[in-house]
Amino acid sequence: MISKPIVSIAGKEGPFLNVINALKQLDLSPLKDKRILIKPNVGRIAPPESGYNTHPEAVAAIIETLNEIGVETIAIGESPIVGVDVFEAFKRAGFTEMAARYGVELIDFNSKPPIVKNIPHPRILTETKVCQQVYDFDVLISVPVTKTHMHTGVTLGIKNLKGCLYRHEKVRYHQLEYLKKVYPEKTLDSAISDLASILTPDMTVVDGFLGMEGLGPSGGNPVNSNFAIASFDPMGADVMACRLMGYDAEEVPHLKIISERNKMPIKVEDYEVLPANYDEYITQYQKPPTKISVEFPGIEVQDVDSCSSCLSTLMMFLKRFGEDMSQYALCDGKFHIAIGKGIEKAMDGSVFVGNCTRHMKDKGIYVKGCPPVPTRIYEAIVHHEPDKNEEPI
Ligand code: SF4
Repeated sequence: MISKPIVSIAGKEGPFLNVINALKQLDLSPLKDKRILIKPNVGRIAPPESGYNTHPEAVAAIIETLNEIGVETIAIGESPIVGVDVFEAFKRAGFTEMAARYGVELIDFNSKPPIVKNIPHPRILTETKVCQQVYDFDVLISVPVTKTHMHTGVTLGIKNLKGCLYRHEKVRYHQLEYLKKVYPEKTLDSAISDLASILTPDMTVVDGFLGMEGLGPSGGNPVNSNFAIASFDPMGADVMACRLMGYDAEEVPHLKIISERNKMPIKVEDYEVLPANYDEYITQYQKPPTKISVEFPGIEVQDVDSCSSCLSTLMMFLKRFGEDMSQYALCDGKFHIAIGKGIEKAMDGSVFVGNCTRHMKDKGIYVKGCPPVPTRIYEAIVHHEPDKNEEPI
């Protein structure tokens, strides 16, 4: 009988012990004497208690476990969202202090030229630029934090490797032509599946201690779900993370496509889950709303094919300045703001955020940048002077 891939779960003990206990249930001998690269999710400048990033103590637990086994070297690398300085993100997220404690190197994935990888049998991308340091190690461990995602449903271990893409290559994944007639899913889901055909983690450790629900990956609320998952099977780890977040992995388009393309089982029963009675670790994450506007009454948001950087900027702007925007409402009583490359129609007087909306700039207030910073949006709005022929907004 063929044995099922093992997925190990532990919880209720905080970010460090959850991971220690999840790793204890696996045979880690394949990692002995290896060169290990840890890829957390530290894509944004935010403190550990925010739920934006992987908790540093979850990674500390991996490092301690690896040191006990005896590995050749350990490093931590990241290519954060566009506009974020990786070392600033590491510092704010508690990684600089943690890595120094263990003498582990922090790597800026964008510091060297990328390697261009061809995608075999592509859906949408024929090639992609991957950061070269990813290939300098024997083992790649993806360590995502559990978050819902406005564009992809959830972001977990497989999608976390989008942070191995070089600089603006991440943005390109959001700007690809929509081939609706060929593939009904979003281009981003197809692009992630193309990436997964050349790069999946050798091991995944999911940090489910403090995740993000609702308007993730950048505008949601922290949720204390207090679990960790460890597995050598990338799909198994993500399937069980979905389960513990109250999701069914088959509802997550990129996982469904990757399962079909890479022949990776996507049902819970396809895996040997330790412990079998994992139900006590389930926390229902609030799903992302279909429209951002639902969460901000009086604000009409158009988001058509934006990428995570602009979405993150918009969420920061709305959380900080959203309540002040009622004074800039248009004739329908709502403040209108738009992001993404696919904006085609908008009410006159709308605010257009990011270089992707440049073609709309004559219709309202345009804020350039890729992405712009939230304060620039605010300044552009409050300092905007209507021209003589323009109706006041
Ligand atoms: S302008 Fe915004 S949506 Fe467009 S590529 Fe830049 S960050 Fe992404």
